[in-house]
Amino acid sequence: MIIISYYNEEEKGKVLEDLTWNVKQIQDDLLKEILTLNSGTEYLQNFLHGSSAKELFKKNLPIVTYKDVKPYIDRVANGESSNIISTLPITNFFNSSGTSGGANKILPSNSKYLDGSAFSTDLLAHVIRKHVKGVERGKGMLFFLTGHDTKTPGGFPIEDGISWYLKSDYFKNRPSTWFYSYTSPDEVMLGSDLKENLYCHLLCGLVQRDEVTRIGSTFASGMVRVIKVLEDSWKELCSNIRSGNLSEWITDSGCRNSVSLVLGGQPRHKLSDEIESICSQKSWKGIMKKLWPQTLCIEAIATGSMAQYVPTLKHYSGDVPLVSTIYASSESMFGINTDPLCQPENTSYTLMPNISYFEFIPTEGGNGDVVDLADVKLGCSYQLLVTNLWGLYRMRIGDIVKVTGFHNKAPKFRVIGRENTLLSIDTDRTTEEYLLKAVNRARLVLESSDLRLVAFTSYADISSSPGHYVIYWEVKTKEEDMKELDEKTFLECCSVMEDTLDEEYMYCRANEFIGPLEIRVVNDGTFDSLMNLSISKGASITQYKYWRQMWLLDSSVLSEHLMCLSHDIWSKKRGRNVCVLSVLSWFLLTIF
Ligand code: AMP
Repeated sequence: MIIISYYNEEEKGKVLEDLTWNVKQIQDDLLKEILTLNSGTEYLQNFLHGSSAKELFKKNLPIVTYKDVKPYIDRVANGESSNIISTLPITNFFNSSGTSGGANKILPSNSKYLDGSAFSTDLLAHVIRKHVKGVERGKGMLFFLTGHDTKTPGGFPIEDGISWYLKSDYFKNRPSTWFYSYTSPDEVMLGSDLKENLYCHLLCGLVQRDEVTRIGSTFASGMVRVIKVLEDSWKELCSNIRSGNLSEWITDSGCRNSVSLVLGGQPRHKLSDEIESICSQKSWKGIMKKLWPQTLCIEAIATGSMAQYVPTLKHYSGDVPLVSTIYASSESMFGINTDPLCQPENTSYTLMPNISYFEFIPTEGGNGDVVDLADVKLGCSYQLLVTNLWGLYRMRIGDIVKVTGFHNKAPKFRVIGRENTLLSIDTDRTTEEYLLKAVNRARLVLESSDLRLVAFTSYADISSSPGHYVIYWEVKTKEEDMKELDEKTFLECCSVMEDTLDEEYMYCRANEFIGPLEIRVVNDGTFDSLMNLSISKGASITQYKYWRQMWLLDSSVLSEHLMCLSHDIWSKKRGRNVCVLSVLSWFLLTIF
């Protein structure tokens, strides 16, 4: 992998052109390299007997899921030789947010993963600079966070990709160019306390508010969390800025020392007044642009399960474009968004052919044959398989991707969602995409009554018969003085959602194979608590995704706060009476 960090823009542009015109050749060369390098590993020996021929790879090597290769991975994690799966030594493991049979996945890795990530990030920088004019004139306020690592029985660290990157020499020795210039000191990114780190990130960003040209977090959910911290602590932040001194409760010495240097003990009355006046406005619509007026883009992955946060982010960001940056996983970096200013819902990613060897299984039609990256067809959907340089071969990632176009000859993919259906009661198979469509339609109904959906997640409840879909919603009043919650609105939301789900769902509902869809409105801050609880149980901060934490919602944490709104749209259609619980009194009690 070539290092392009120090290339000028023209050179980086040429690299991107070369990659995207020569997809087939680059992928074939990479597969050759992977097989030649690893032909002596125990795993490949089983199937290829020392050969590195592409034909034999296609014929003999099984397509696997995590469960299939877990025994090999576990042996390496337990301290046996890396050579079981990889000639280059495995140095660490990634904690994947996906689960396998209820157990967390750990995926092997080494510096080759970082090489690919650094390469893609450098190309992304080039693309962003090309499309977002003037972005290089300022700094990035990027809410990078480092999670805690644990160890495998063999002593290898288990962490998430971003934490590893932040602790690596790549980050330490990064070029001093605009893309790597941040408002926060490294110590804040590397700090060990989430609450302290977010507070310090915000403080440094506010002090340098006129220099910020880009704001970012890995996932859109992270940005929403940042806004919540700002909501909770802007008065204290202003007080620190006014006095030039950091709050006493920040105890991490790295954070304390580095942020104190940013503040410099210098009182800033005018700046504090300005921020105070913006934050005390009744409506926080467009607050990010008001606080950081030079901001030209907000970088956060807002596709797949993160698409649910787009409306919330749009509310706070005003007209600043939201750029979904990269598509990656613990198995491999996949690609970058080569059209960063497109609308979030139209975002696709160009897969980088020099990072891993990618294969695709058509989800429908075809004869089930596996297709190479260079052979995918426009408009078709596929399951993604990865073969990488660090020990995974023909592994199903679990994502469904759809070809939406081409950058030169390189296919661009939309991430449709996880291969595993999100909700299913009977023969229905509701995907993340469909559920999102339904929620987005219901969201319009909600908004027409001055409410905003902050976050949601879902659950197929089969504890009673017939089972039914439960959608958990956290809602907020749009303007601060709105105090009423109309139960009719929620009935309408249930109805709209059911009407949006697919034909199979309709069929099951009409035949009473599925019961009425239910919305459970949860307390203000519930999703934040969920995240905290999940992190306290060892989930990674940077990879956390709500929809994978279903068990938490039904645990005792929330049960006392739940109120069900049940609405049988099908009975209504048949003219039966509908029994509805009022949420108004509950809402007023819990919010005010
Ligand atoms: P993890 O292995 O925990 O990093 O999770 C990786 C998974 O996150 C991927 O397989 C996708 O399902 C999801 N993901 C990562 N990047 C994106 C993206 N840009 N858009 C949609 N989903 C993504």
